[in-house]
Amino acid sequence: MAKIGINLSEGKVNKEEKKEIIIGIDLGTTNSLVAYSKDGNPITVKGKDGKNSLIPSVIHFKSDKTVLVGDEAKEKLITDPENTIYSVKRLMGKSFNDVDNQKDYFGYRIIDTDDDSLVKIRVEDKFYSPIELSAQILKTLKKRIEENLENSVSKAVITVPAYFNDAQRQATKDAGKLAGLDVLRIVNEPTAAALAYGLSLDQNDGQTVAVYDLGGGTFDVSVLRIENGIFEVLSTNGNTFLGGDDLDRVIIDHWSSLYKLEDQLADANFKQALRLKAELAKKTLSKQETFKDTLNNFTLELSKDTFEVLINPLIEETLNCCNAALKDAKLSTAEIDHVLLVGGSTRVPLIKEKLQSLFGKVPNDTLDPDEVVALGAAIQADILAGNNREMLLLDITPLSLGIETVGGLMDVILPRNSKIPSSVGRNYTTSIDGQKNLKVAVYQGERDLVKDNRKLGEFILTDIPPMPAGIPKIEIQFLLDADGILKVKAKELRSEQETEIRIKPSYGISEEEMALMLLDSMKNAEADMAQRVLLEARNEANSVILASAKFIEQNAAIFSEVEVKDLKSYIQKLKEAVEGTDKDLINKAMDELNTFSRPLAERAMDHNISEAMKGKKL
Ligand code: ADP
Ligand code: MG
Repeated sequence: MAKIGINLSEGKVNKEEKKEIIIGIDLGTTNSLVAYSKDGNPITVKGKDGKNSLIPSVIHFKSDKTVLVGDEAKEKLITDPENTIYSVKRLMGKSFNDVDNQKDYFGYRIIDTDDDSLVKIRVEDKFYSPIELSAQILKTLKKRIEENLENSVSKAVITVPAYFNDAQRQATKDAGKLAGLDVLRIVNEPTAAALAYGLSLDQNDGQTVAVYDLGGGTFDVSVLRIENGIFEVLSTNGNTFLGGDDLDRVIIDHWSSLYKLEDQLADANFKQALRLKAELAKKTLSKQETFKDTLNNFTLELSKDTFEVLINPLIEETLNCCNAALKDAKLSTAEIDHVLLVGGSTRVPLIKEKLQSLFGKVPNDTLDPDEVVALGAAIQADILAGNNREMLLLDITPLSLGIETVGGLMDVILPRNSKIPSSVGRNYTTSIDGQKNLKVAVYQGERDLVKDNRKLGEFILTDIPPMPAGIPKIEIQFLLDADGILKVKAKELRSEQETEIRIKPSYGISEEEMALMLLDSMKNAEADMAQRVLLEARNEANSVILASAKFIEQNAAIFSEVEVKDLKSYIQKLKEAVEGTDKDLINKAMDELNTFSRPLAERAMDHNISEAMKGKKL
């Protein structure tokens, strides 16, 4: 099969194959970095100062809306928290309902839409999705490597935690696309670590590996089985709110009570300075027995022994997670061939000691734990670039396959680069009360609107039993077999009514045309995302408008005339915003309507409950 290269900077398709560097990216919760392979060896790319390969995953919006990413943005966390976004990885692919009980953790505003649409972040009067924010980090990494190589890059492998679900993986891919990167593969972080340690090259009967990853704010452990170059995740466990920050916190608490710092801690600047000293103490104690420093008039001291007593409960918790992961994988510690250390916090000596006694073997720590995931991503990238012939490349789909959803949006079901054969199912529902038929239109391509993609066919699922909108459960299944034949099946799960079609997606399209479609989607990524965000805001607003109208109808008696009038005027404002094309205005009107109606909804609920209780003896 001939390979067709894309030159994004020139906007051209090259017929003859040209060797291109594919980059590897570790998009972390706390820090991110980029790496590539040079003559078969992975290396990470450092900043202009030549020192640090880590870029803090922090984004700051200046008052003129220009964006800072990395160290400069991190400095704004204390002075301007509302306009400074951190830990955005925690929000990828999440709805507000998913993060509702964690919202106090974030210093910035996450919009409460009270439903399961994806979260948005409000910075003054602008609304951003986690995808757009992650794209800012990716753009910074892309720029860094382009400056370093003095060449443009457009293809990437990005790593994600093994526990990421489809929505989180898709969001990561979308962020890459928005940053101008063609994401060839999403790779699990523990898999990347194992690649970096060269474990897949061992020709033995295969091996079992535990990857212990303690980062800045998260902990996870994965048990992997590697056989014939194939990686299988046997189990994962962890705590998404346990990391290096918590080690810093126990030091702060210790000093605070030892030196009576409560009064000083009311000052945000002092608090931040103390936090930095605590982190410095932690890092120093990874190499030395004692730490001593001053802050204002205070002398701060900590010995390694005291530090280890303080953090012991946290480390014990991570060991419990390791045991749980082993149990899920039905393995004993003796059956683990290698323990790999990942994440900056694994430099703490106590962690190494405890892991050694748990597993009965010395953990692998020869590679830099901050860099190991990015290095593995660069190795995977080099394999995809065709530079490593020992690895077999599986057959993959060249373009994404999906269906049309409300507003003419493309909903990708089988993403491009999926392995063949493949089978994926996703559930949908109706949007109109009593809807009997559902049209399923199948498209191929990377654009966000189906009108810009290639239509492969359509069919109608008939005889859906009449139900209110949103109640029927319709499963759409895509099955792509080894011969490249796609079977699309739609089934209403209550009535078991079903219909299907068969299509050959590669029929009538040349490789060059496919490459052109891909190029088009990269060129239009930003405009497409803007369209998608606008259409999604409209869809969401329309359902909020409908729900609000129903709400007034059912509860008018409970509210005062003024309240009903105000509520109606908020609805009217939202209706007007929906007519326009400014998604920030729609989101703002929606946010205001939700904020106004929330206390009313609570009152209505209380009222309805007490009505229901009347006359009943408890
Ligand atoms: P993430 O994967 O979440 O982006 P990292 O792997 O970059 O995070 O880990 C960042 C954490 O590592 C921070 O809490 C930092 O303080 C900690 N860390 C870095 N170096 C050391 C060290 N020498 N000793 C102890 N902790 C360290
Ligand atoms: Mg990490």
